[in-house]
Amino acid sequence: MANKRKIAYAHHLPGWTVEGGNREALKASRRVTPDEYEEDMRGALYCPGCFTNVERTPKEKDLFTNQRDPFYRHLQRWSHVACVLRAKKPIGKRYDSWEEAKRAIEHEHLAIVKEFLQERPEIDLEPSGEYDETPVEDMDGPISEVPIGRHQGESFELPSKITTVAGMCRNFEKNKDKYFFLPGAIHAVKLAELLTDVADLDRSVLDKPQKPKLYYGKILRSWNAGRFNTSIRMTRLRCGQGAGDFTVKMPDGFCQAKNINDASVGRIVMFYGVITRNGGGIGAEHLAWGEIALIPKKYNELLIPE
Ligand SMILES: [Zn+2]
Repeated sequence: MANKRKIAYAHHLPGWTVEGGNREALKASRRVTPDEYEEDMRGALYCPGCFTNVERTPKEKDLFTNQRDPFYRHLQRWSHVACVLRAKKPIGKRYDSWEEAKRAIEHEHLAIVKEFLQERPEIDLEPSGEYDETPVEDMDGPISEVPIGRHQGESFELPSKITTVAGMCRNFEKNKDKYFFLPGAIHAVKLAELLTDVADLDRSVLDKPQKPKLYYGKILRSWNAGRFNTSIRMTRLRCGQGAGDFTVKMPDGFCQAKNINDASVGRIVMFYGVITRNGGGIGAEHLAWGEIALIPKKYNELLIPE
């Protein structure tokens, strides 16, 4: 159910069309919560995450069924457009031939991720306010055998990347529709469908063996728990009730270099890793250099509209 409630509001702009419609005009249009819905808005409501049509359930303004709150849902018609706010049914992409997969990589529709960058690159450039302005740290990885052929068990030898979460966040609006084949994966999946909001987690995530995954969450508070830049910086993310609390624990100096500091409240952080226990709550720690980044602020509403 958590996913259904993710569309906190819809844009209301009569006459707007998904194909050819001016996106800036849509973003500037009225935001309507499920409670504010009026029946004459039908057909003119759009998702803030992917800008396709949404409809309100129930369609009648005042009809409540089983005491459930009304919510917005995507339309099947636009299911080919990836959206972080859509209930996830990831579909692995298959390729007919090596040439087709190679072309997808060249056109940046597909990336084979060998690993996330482990160490900070030696060329030390000052971090800027927006990740869009930071240097691309991605490096070429080895040729890798990737099982993404159309036929059962068919693999192609393809160039891979050693990448960073920061690189995935850059151009997020475009990258959300790009297929990524992550380390240890069995399918290439669109970035939007690889992402899990930590607000959807509870402590039961610790009960089963985990594989590293991509997570994101909104920063509630961030503080250095000690006095030095080697001390641990505690960064609390918004979480569900069943989680207790959610804390990213990394050295202060590491966080500062990524612009994660006391002033990061309200920003969204994305990371690749496993969930660990933290006292009565959960969290993440021991992340490598390329495994965590702040999402450029302009993409906040694509991930957590409010
Ligand atoms: Zn959407």
